Amino acid sequence: MPINVNKPYLPDIKKYHKYLDQIWQNNHLTNFGPLACALEEKLQEFLGVPNLLFVSNGTIALQIAYKLAGLKKDDKIITTPFSFVATTNTLLWEGLNPVFCDIDPKSFCIDTNKILPLLTTETKAILPVHVFGNACDVKALQTIAKKHNLKVIYDGAHAFGVKYEGKSIFEYGDFSTLSFHATKLFHTIEGGLVIAKDEAMIAEAKKMINFGLENSLPSALGINAKNSEFHAAMGLCVLEDLDFITQERQKIWEYYHQHLKDDFALQSLQADNNNHHYFPILFEEESALQKALLKLNEADIFPRRYFYPSLNTLKHHHTNVTCPISEDICSRILCLPIYVGLDQTTQDKIIRILK
Ligand SMILES: *Cc1c(COP(=O)(O)O)cnc(C)c1O
Repeated sequence: MPINVNKPYLPDIKKYHKYLDQIWQNNHLTNFGPLACALEEKLQEFLGVPNLLFVSNGTIALQIAYKLAGLKKDDKIITTPFSFVATTNTLLWEGLNPVFCDIDPKSFCIDTNKILPLLTTETKAILPVHVFGNACDVKALQTIAKKHNLKVIYDGAHAFGVKYEGKSIFEYGDFSTLSFHATKLFHTIEGGLVIAKDEAMIAEAKKMINFGLENSLPSALGINAKNSEFHAAMGLCVLEDLDFITQERQKIWEYYHQHLKDDFALQSLQADNNNHHYFPILFEEESALQKALLKLNEADIFPRRYFYPSLNTLKHHHTNVTCPISEDICSRILCLPIYVGLDQTTQDKIIRILK
């Protein structure tokens, strides 16, 4: 069996069956059903934020957040080139213009010292990413946003369970979004979450994701981004096992750390905690990465080049700005396999090849 960077977590099937029995009894399959509501309640408690909405994926969660933030066609949005392509694809899809701001070479998050020169009267928001579960410099972002009247939308797809200065990372900014895709730390097979500072925004979002219906009548522009009871059921099962999932990932993370910290540069953490979602390592140069990747692939091990390439270099993004730090990190970074069930023999093999 090939070893991939990730393996979706599957809970005990009997547990999932119990939820299926409930779905059959309720005969309520989607459209804000009881399991979706139960999941939202549990997430409010778990994440420590009151205003949230379960949606069909993390990509549409971003698009909903842009609409809620009142962003309009051609608005400029300061964002990071070091992320998964969904971060900036969604901007372009909504007719918004990404303005790339380079990243900090240690945290891999947006470099807040480089934002000011990029601001114009057309800049309406900042879209930072809590990369690999690290925290952005949320205080500096808050200061900039306040001074220049910008909305802050965090792509928090990697930041499930992350805290910053004793608070949930999702308490910062106007909006945060999460992805509950099967490969993420917490998942609902496909799914996502919109988190808002303002309670009224979630009521608005709830209409938006249901065709703009209000009392069954189309009252505003909307789309379909609801999620189903089957997805919510998976989420309820996975959430029950989250302590176990986190402990297992932590063990794997610490084993890599212990054996690789002297050989590779690693991301420096600026959150209160590490959620052990990813284990990225930095090679000295791209050729060394390519050589290691080839050897690992020969052993049927498939780490991923996250993130590669730097988003500012994508043709369909039509930009000619350079972000030297992001481009450099992208060329040298590799995310190692980390998931529940990865055994130590395999980890030893990965470490041996890398050394
Ligand atoms: C996974 C991911 C997304 C997309 O989420 P989906 O649920 O797969 O649509 C967006 N941004 C980042 C940073 C991601 O890692």
